[in-house]
Amino acid sequence: MSNVIQLLPQALANQIAAGEVVQRPESVVKELVENALDAGTSSLTVVVKDAGKALIQIVDTGCGMTPDDAQLAFARHATSKVRTYDDLEAIHTFGFRGEALAAISSIAQVELRTKRMADETGICVRVDGGQFRSAEPVATSDGTSIAVKNLFYNTPGRRNFLKSNATEFRHILDTVQRVALANPEIGLSFIADDEPIYQLKAGSLPERLQAVFGHNFFDGLIPVGETTEYLTISGYVGRPQFARKARGEQFLFLNGRPVQNRLVHHAVTSAYGHLLSKGEYPFYLLFLTIDPKHVDVNVHPQKLEVKFDDEQAIYRLLMSVVRKGLAQADLAPTVELPGTLKTDGFETIRIPSTPTESTAGTVRFAAASSPQPMPDAAPSRWVSGFTEREASRRPESDDDRAYDRPARSMSPADQTEMLAGLEALYRPPAPPETLPS
Ligand code: ADP
Ligand code: MG
Repeated sequence: MSNVIQLLPQALANQIAAGEVVQRPESVVKELVENALDAGTSSLTVVVKDAGKALIQIVDTGCGMTPDDAQLAFARHATSKVRTYDDLEAIHTFGFRGEALAAISSIAQVELRTKRMADETGICVRVDGGQFRSAEPVATSDGTSIAVKNLFYNTPGRRNFLKSNATEFRHILDTVQRVALANPEIGLSFIADDEPIYQLKAGSLPERLQAVFGHNFFDGLIPVGETTEYLTISGYVGRPQFARKARGEQFLFLNGRPVQNRLVHHAVTSAYGHLLSKGEYPFYLLFLTIDPKHVDVNVHPQKLEVKFDDEQAIYRLLMSVVRKGLAQADLAPTVELPGTLKTDGFETIRIPSTPTESTAGTVRFAAASSPQPMPDAAPSRWVSGFTEREASRRPESDDDRAYDRPARSMSPADQTEMLAGLEALYRPPAPPETLPS
């Protein structure tokens, strides 16, 4: 019997890897912006055309690359950021450990221009569909400019999976907004189809928030913060009157990078207690700083969902920080719960640390929420900033991730649903989409 196993050609292997790295144009924006941030850029320009389908260009003023590195950067597992396993454990950057450029350039036409400050001339490298095209000296400014054209041009099956321009653009806008909020010290311009969407000057976080959301909205935010040995929390939460029926204004940054974590979301919304109606999502913008060794960023294939080693600590601290903030703003998020939980009794909250613990968790979680329906808070009509935000309101996405609902007067059915949501956190990620041949 003759042997049948063959090694996949490198270009095909990269395309397969691209299935995981690049879901949509937004993934490219995220990866390239992350590279620019890793390169220590002081300003960022993001240009997209046709919702990123025709062009995504990122220009930075970071460290740039040598001509050799500029070519090596496209090879799979080429990275300047990981040398040892310890690096991997300690990594602050949530990039793909040398896979992004290889993956992206296997499914698009890429042109990279880069120059280090120390060098006289730069280099322009072109790679199309994983094939090296050219590398030529070029006069260019310090830093890196990378243009990704015609994403998925050679994988029509994947191209056909892209959503409407409105949806794809909204994903990009969302990512750019998160980058803008996480990095106020970096000047950022975002141009879509030749229209300037953001022109943000480098500044402080309050300045950035005002520039992005408007002055009135900013005035209504409540600053929160706390430092413990395990974790530092800082940021803002919105008044309950700003809560929305739709997701999209929950901003969580871990060591400066946007992430998602259902427990954090749950802790924050739970802290509002009866101040939120069922199904309402509060605005929050929270920066968590934690030693990376306490975090597993490998939970989600896109490195967005993260897992902490002491989730109970995170949960308790967030809940207490948000409650304190709300209380200081003369909102009364804490309620005396008959016989179950004292106002400051977060200690008694138990979160399921593994799916198998969920039964025990159900009972204790019920205690954390109110077993009795709470009267809805009667918010004064606090409308400051509301109108300008309404104007920029984005449509609900057809494929947004489901968040947990606030734990408020939960029925047994709700409790079960909530726990299912939390357990989903621990499920292995779904297998990547099958690539067309
Ligand atoms: P990773 O970011 O995981 O290292 P990438 O494929 O995204 O992998 O990038 C490969 C390498 O190319 C990076 O490690 C970095 O050395 C270099 N690089 C990529 N983008 C830039 C940039 N904008 N400025 C400087 N160097 C970059
Ligand atoms: Mg990278």
